[in-house]
Amino acid sequence: MLLKKGDKGANVKAFQAFLNTQGEVLDADGNFGGLTEGAVRRFQAKHGLTSDGKAGQNTISVAMQLGLEGFGGDAKPSSGKLVLLSAGHTNVSGQDRGVGANGMVEGVEAVKIRDRVADLVRVKGVSVIEDGADGQNLPLSKALELAKKADIKIEWHFNAAANPSASGIEVLSMPAHTKFGQRLAEAVNQALSLPLRGDKGWKSDTSGQHSRLAFCRAGGLLIETCFLTNPGDVKSYQDNFEKMCGILAEVIARAANT
Ligand SMILES: [Zn+2]
Repeated sequence: MLLKKGDKGANVKAFQAFLNTQGEVLDADGNFGGLTEGAVRRFQAKHGLTSDGKAGQNTISVAMQLGLEGFGGDAKPSSGKLVLLSAGHTNVSGQDRGVGANGMVEGVEAVKIRDRVADLVRVKGVSVIEDGADGQNLPLSKALELAKKADIKIEWHFNAAANPSASGIEVLSMPAHTKFGQRLAEAVNQALSLPLRGDKGWKSDTSGQHSRLAFCRAGGLLIETCFLTNPGDVKSYQDNFEKMCGILAEVIARAANT
């Protein structure tokens, strides 16, 4: 999907209407002219995108994240699926930040993983939306709303247990996504070398310690990266963060392109 100067139609109109919600004052007439091009450039510059005045998949992804609606069925790039990457909990203090242990906070680490994996997956030409701009973790309701638009949806969490020796990786989802869940668990395992829990890393979404599994019910997969309550798990996560994000990005991009 690419919208550029000279294009006409409903998707141009929807994009113009979106730009108007971002402070522009375009006539949303469905004709992509010089004024629209200028508005696209400003939008791109504001969001750290290449400022070329053409709305390609990265620009459209960011716009969808910010509420772009009304796109036709061809809004998704024809070559791939739309991926939602979500950080569990929030990183806002005073709100539900998830588990805190060994100097780590679940909602904070989840955002770091999401942001890094999103960058790496986008580089592979996949359209990615996130539940917040870089460093920001919006509430679950936002992730659920975005999940409706996405074909593949993944959310990061960390596990916790009273017993500090509890260890390992699990991915929760509905049974329909068992295989992909196992691939994601295996990706984390390759980097962290921690045990795979459940069925080769996969568990039913009804088996976790988290009660907020609406994300799985919406077709999503929830990665319990490791146990924040286990110092060894935490060390392995910290030492292998970049490797883990790289392998996860490979697996996610491959799924998006098949
Ligand atoms: Zn959690």
